Amino acid sequence: MDKESLKSLLYSSALVADAAPDAVAEANTFCEGYKKFLDNGKTEREVCIYSEKLLKAAGYRPFTSGMQLQAGDKVYFINRKKCVLAATIGKKSLAEGFHLNIAHIDSPRLDLRPIPLYESNDMAFLRTHYYGGIRKYQWPTIPLSLHGVIYRADGSCVEVNIGEKDEDPVFCITDLLPHLGAKQSEKKLNEAITGENLNVLIASSPVADQELEQRVKLNVLQMLNEVYGITEKDFINAEIEVVPAFKARDIGLDRAMIGSYGHDDRVDAYPALMAEIDVKDPVYTTVCVLTDKEETGSDGVTGLNSMYTFHFLQQLCAAEGVDYITAFQASKCLSADVTAAYDPNYADAFELSNSTYAGRGIAVYKYTGSRGKSSTNDAPAEMVSYLTRLMDRNNIVWQIGELGKIDLGGGGTVAKYVANQDIDTIDIGVPVLAMHSPYEIVSKVDVYMAYRTFKAFCEDAE
Ligand code: MN
Ligand code: MN
Repeated sequence: MDKESLKSLLYSSALVADAAPDAVAEANTFCEGYKKFLDNGKTEREVCIYSEKLLKAAGYRPFTSGMQLQAGDKVYFINRKKCVLAATIGKKSLAEGFHLNIAHIDSPRLDLRPIPLYESNDMAFLRTHYYGGIRKYQWPTIPLSLHGVIYRADGSCVEVNIGEKDEDPVFCITDLLPHLGAKQSEKKLNEAITGENLNVLIASSPVADQELEQRVKLNVLQMLNEVYGITEKDFINAEIEVVPAFKARDIGLDRAMIGSYGHDDRVDAYPALMAEIDVKDPVYTTVCVLTDKEETGSDGVTGLNSMYTFHFLQQLCAAEGVDYITAFQASKCLSADVTAAYDPNYADAFELSNSTYAGRGIAVYKYTGSRGKSSTNDAPAEMVSYLTRLMDRNNIVWQIGELGKIDLGGGGTVAKYVANQDIDTIDIGVPVLAMHSPYEIVSKVDVYMAYRTFKAFCEDAE
């Protein structure tokens, strides 16, 4: 063999900048829309509202059970204000299967407890209970905002969003000064800040009447009552999420990356949604699902371990008079979730040749899970082969890997819940630096390659 033939025997992943230089400018344009999506959707409820606007503007109609559908029709359904389902009806019968793109729109955060408000030494705080896998020490001393809904005594709903507009106040969790922190500094990283420490400072001025007790707490309740018409009891009927008040910003002199709260997993959700919106007259029926509750294990009525997605698919089958088991068996799913980008700062956590890297395109994962591939959809080689050929045909820059060193930990995704329904499924996702932190970082070209992958899958006729 000559030198070139020998070289062609080797495989390694490449930078998008080298393998597809034209994609860099396209990625920058695509990511302007993504940054808006991030800033407008910091919670699953807000993502639903923003996505519904995009879907309606693109001509999607609300889906109702039994409605007659034709090839090219676009319909959507919002599950309990927390999950988005959108579909474009294909030219082939549903008996030939769906092409499903799935991502999640809940992110690690702090939720308010049922009885959150208390006063201590003339300061009022909100008690929180963390949601998903956070590193608790990362949450003090950053600006925070409050997002969510409160149901009043009469059943009416008030939406809360404080801390995002420039003129809004923000909130904060305090930390100890280093001068008094010697003992705290001796603790392990995961014990230095506890769940009970994650109390959000919300006010520090009292009501005027000095005869009263808890005057700062009463001041908070008075302000909330004036603006929202609520009392302390109404916190019981509320879902308020505490999230970082940062906006999505370009990172680096070259502006090649984006720093933001909530890339996990909006960085896959937005490309999946845009691919669904952009596909016209597909051969197979395409379905985009943006789900809730991934970060707590996918249980609950808005998690993928519930039937809501499969009920939607079953109802689409019923509208066409197709047996849904036949449809599921013929279907394919790209289950998207973020993965760890190799971090040279923490090189010890990774195995170089099976890591995924920021800037090398969309990452494919044959399996996730932990230890001996516990609790994973381990995609069959046939499915891996289908996907890699699809990506190569469409000049998509991709890489394959694992989360990190085998014995360090691991993690799961929603892929198994789809595969458990007899649907061929494979994991893909955008690599993230500082994943699950209040300020995660992704590479713009990877976001764009995620979009290109979802789009190619929506348009595939194989
Ligand atoms: Mn996550
Ligand atoms: Mn995730």
